[in-house]
Amino acid sequence: MTPFADLHCHTTHSDGSASPEQIIDLAVKRGFKAVSITDHDTIEAYETVLPLAQKRGLEVMTGVEFSTHHKGVSVHILGYNFDLREKPIHDLIERHKKRRTERNQVIVELLKKKQMPIDEAAFFKLPGVVGRPHIALAMIAKGYVKSVKEAFLKYLGEDRPCYSPGTPFSVEETLEAIKASKGKAVLAHPHLLRNEKILSSLLTLPFDGMECYYANFPLQKNKRWLDLAQRKGWLITGGSDYHGTYKPTLHYGASYVDEPTFRRLQS
Ligand code: AMP
Ligand code: ZN
Ligand code: FE
Ligand code: FE
Repeated sequence: MTPFADLHCHTTHSDGSASPEQIIDLAVKRGFKAVSITDHDTIEAYETVLPLAQKRGLEVMTGVEFSTHHKGVSVHILGYNFDLREKPIHDLIERHKKRRTERNQVIVELLKKKQMPIDEAAFFKLPGVVGRPHIALAMIAKGYVKSVKEAFLKYLGEDRPCYSPGTPFSVEETLEAIKASKGKAVLAHPHLLRNEKILSSLLTLPFDGMECYYANFPLQKNKRWLDLAQRKGWLITGGSDYHGTYKPTLHYGASYVDEPTFRRLQS
């Protein structure tokens, strides 16, 4: 499979440590012909990416990643190839940003109750879409934990004492907004769905595709998802979920798609 594009990565506009410019550099160095950025709840990176990619000879596919809940379980949904001017995607982004601000406030209070106050003045001034990885950094700065991983393992992970999901968003409303914006809705990193019943239920919903190639997973691990997508007649996507220093084990370009797969997302 000839690499064409890594379809899943995060920038400084959400919880990635690389700027959009740096992602474009990485894409060019890696020999990719196209780029897509899938920040959490924001498409601000595209203001930089669109003109710069054109200058560097890269195609661009619009992308975004939303956190939703299905029967109480966290499900991430990737949107691709939507029209940046469409209102439904902007409206959904605005609602998600509000959810995050409220939710971050709850987590900060929970940490306070556990005698772990963070520097709130600095935290609530951070630019872009701010989430748990940023809270983890604030905890490291205070010496409560040594790494982002430790912060999630002990306090911020889904079943941990300082977690709050915030107002849940349904998979259905998210699929609707992506499609109403002329985009393709893709089930992200399905291996994280440990509950088979939840997976079966998700498979009945009108997704357009599934993220079958992920991070540095070997083909054997991806095969289950490739078979499933083929059976459903769904599109296939793939990407590294690169977050830079927030998730140092994930490298840009570790997973990717070839050109025919990329073109199917545009059809
Ligand atoms: P949030 O969007 O604020 O709910 O934070 C979720 C993000 O935190 C995910 O998209 C990952 O980037 C990161 N994350 C989730 N679990 C972990 C973990 N165990 N270790 C490090 N980062 C994680
Ligand atoms: Zn993330
Ligand atoms: Fe995700
Ligand atoms: Fe991601």
